[in-house]
Amino acid sequence: QDRLKALGKSDLPPIRHLHVIGAGAMGGDIAAWASLRGVTVTLQDLAPERIAPAIKRAHELYTKRLKLPHLIQAAMDRLIPDVAGSGVAKADLIIEAIVENAEVKKKLFAQVEPKMKAGAILASNTSSIPLQELFDALKRPERLVGLHFFNPVAQMMLVEIVESPRTPQHVMLAGQAFAKQIDKLPLPCKSAPGFLVNRVLTPYLNEAMLMVDEGIPPETIDAAAKDFGMPMGPIELADMVGLDVGWAVGQELAKPGAIVPKKLKALVDGKRFGKKSGEGFYKWV
Ligand code: NAD
Repeated sequence: QDRLKALGKSDLPPIRHLHVIGAGAMGGDIAAWASLRGVTVTLQDLAPERIAPAIKRAHELYTKRLKLPHLIQAAMDRLIPDVAGSGVAKADLIIEAIVENAEVKKKLFAQVEPKMKAGAILASNTSSIPLQELFDALKRPERLVGLHFFNPVAQMMLVEIVESPRTPQHVMLAGQAFAKQIDKLPLPCKSAPGFLVNRVLTPYLNEAMLMVDEGIPPETIDAAAKDFGMPMGPIELADMVGLDVGWAVGQELAKPGAIVPKKLKALVDGKRFGKKSGEGFYKWV
């Protein structure tokens, strides 16, 4: 909070309308957080049934943070389910938080860009895909910036503001201003695989999962990491992030000859993705 205050206020106009595409773990929680902080948010998902649980999580967040019924209601009113994606044409900022797959993201961008209003910014919450890999799909790659939130959104202060070789300074500044607007700490970084945090975090998680393959129980590894001072152990964190997402990020960042953790592969193949599917390295129900 002190570091955020030290950054000062931005002179740029605030984002009034945010459109979020993907109502999963990240998109749903980014939408909820932005609405908590006063932004009108439309929330879209290819699978409409993903929207209601996201709105339910938002209500839990508002109940915890706002307490007063009229404030909770106002935040709920600002968070609008939008199956048809009509918010795209009205939004000042669009954040995609769909599946971590460059081809799928490109397809989405090609549909979204022509509907965006002039001056609106397009952001990707990708964890690992360099923005340059998404340029093909866009007529104007200059409007693309990375806004990489961390999980769980309500607790993690940091947002990486990712600059591609085509991102102009005013778009970087707008990304930073938006993070500050919603009380998050912007960390500008260049668009390279894994940006800053995941470049360091992914090998750490991978090594921990290789230790599981070697027969060390997840509980032992997590307890050691917590004794060391980590708020959460690496195996628990992998389950929280989602093993499907972790898998996709690992593939994107893998160096030639990298060893894939066997247990991770078996869990992903069995659609046991961690907390969100009730089971991963741990049981969550
Ligand atoms: P998730 O699987 O929980 O949610 C993805 C959502 O996107 C699903 O609801 C799915 O139905 C929807 N979707 C897929 N294709 C779509 C399309 N074409 N149009 C609209 N909706 C579509 O995944 P997540 O964990 O929220 O991750 C989303 C993105 O955020 C990924 O790029 C991921 O790398 C990134 N990210 C994830 C984490 C994490 O800890 N899970 C952290 C930071 C960033």
